[in-house]
Amino acid sequence: MPLRIIIIGGGIGGLCLAQGLKQAGVEDVHVYERDSSPRGRMQGYRLRISPEGESALRACLPRRAQDLLSATANLRHEQGLAAYDEQLNPQWAPEFGDARGDAPDKIDAVDRMTLRRVLLAGLDGVVHFDRRFTAFDQVGDKVVAHFAGGHTVTGDVLVAADGANSQVRKQLRPEYQALDLGVRAILSRTPRAAAIKAGLPEVLRDRFVNVTGSNGLRLALMPMVFRGTPREAAARLWPGLEFDQAEDYYMSVFSVHREVLGLPDGEFLAMTGEQLRELVLERTADWHPDLRGVFAHAEPAETYPLALKATMPVEPWGQGRVVPLGDAVHTMPPTGGVGANTALRDAAALSQALAAVSRGETSLTDAVSGYQTEMVRYATEAIEMSLKIAKWSMRKIDVDSVS
Ligand SMILES: Cc1cc2nc3c(=O)[nH]c(=O)nc-3n(C[C@H](O)[C@H](O)[C@H](O)COP(=O)(O)OP(=O)(O)OC[C@H]3O[C@@H](n4cnc5c(N)ncnc54)[C@H](O)[C@@H]3O)c2cc1C
Repeated sequence: MPLRIIIIGGGIGGLCLAQGLKQAGVEDVHVYERDSSPRGRMQGYRLRISPEGESALRACLPRRAQDLLSATANLRHEQGLAAYDEQLNPQWAPEFGDARGDAPDKIDAVDRMTLRRVLLAGLDGVVHFDRRFTAFDQVGDKVVAHFAGGHTVTGDVLVAADGANSQVRKQLRPEYQALDLGVRAILSRTPRAAAIKAGLPEVLRDRFVNVTGSNGLRLALMPMVFRGTPREAAARLWPGLEFDQAEDYYMSVFSVHREVLGLPDGEFLAMTGEQLRELVLERTADWHPDLRGVFAHAEPAETYPLALKATMPVEPWGQGRVVPLGDAVHTMPPTGGVGANTALRDAAALSQALAAVSRGETSLTDAVSGYQTEMVRYATEAIEMSLKIAKWSMRKIDVDSVS
């Protein structure tokens, strides 16, 4: 049965799904994205890619897109994390194994913007920017999606890949809201050269570093050192593909419980990048000076506030024609580095399920139900792991079901 598939949201999960469907021979696929261009908000960071996330990417992407991602991935292979207190005294940290070992082409962290560009490659005519979804109707065995400005589209399946604040979820499952963990974070990016010049010690330069200060103030510092710059790699592997200029950087996430932060959400979430940088410098005034140099050189235009949330429990959305994927159905805090990986896993599984329907091998109801049963299982594990790490590193979060 040929299917017309409407995907709401051209983020990590939605684009990977479109790629996976294309690879599986499903051609009538359309992605609707509210951003007016690939360079939307908060694209300037790096993402850890787990073995499961890498397998999903490789299952969905054509070979040269995989090669491009590998050629631009983070050069430094991470084995676990290094933990310190705010004076840079080493602390105990949990161990993380990685079954991929030191494989030279492994993709264990990528620049988010580069990933988005690679996921968009070859999807001309499939992805429609500047289309903000507002609502859907079910009419017989069709779904009609409505967009701001009055545009409508009709399809057989509507996939909600519209992220943590999903408008589709608000309409279909308004009761499934993610819980506020009480933790507030400031994300920022510092050019690697500036951080090193400001004194970032050698031992902290190439690893995932977690610093826990008094009062549960926490800093996670992650390097993004491109194996090859995206422009050079694309010129070699996919001539004509457009990339922004990229330089190596550190992504930092400074987190604190809102009671310790002591600012109303309205005020905190409205702060500019410059104000947020000053706030971090003020709250870390007694931290080791070599760490403070990283904040001092953070780019204000790439500095944002964030409230950490988690979906608990993860619930299926039923067996209808509106199917969830990614943060829309399982929001999780970035502490585990698995939200995007779980969205990629969803994309690989759902593309296989929908391709089987399109080939007439199974019914849509069975495919949607099988996909969601599995998704709920692995997404629940991912959220529990992320919450455990949040609790370990921040000492206090506002959920009590994590031991
Ligand atoms: C600081 C930080 C660090 C992180 N680090 C990691 C990491 O290292 N590893 C990891 O696995 N995960 C990480 N995550 C989590 C990861 O970013 C998310 O889990 C992932 O982006 C979810 O993918 P998604 O496709 O579901 O949603 P998104 O990538 O958020 O995409 C949703 C898309 O839908 C669009 N959209 C929203 N509403 C509408 C609408 N009404 N109409 C049309 N389009 C709409 C949005 O513009 C967006 O493009 C991190 C998150 C943060 C905040």
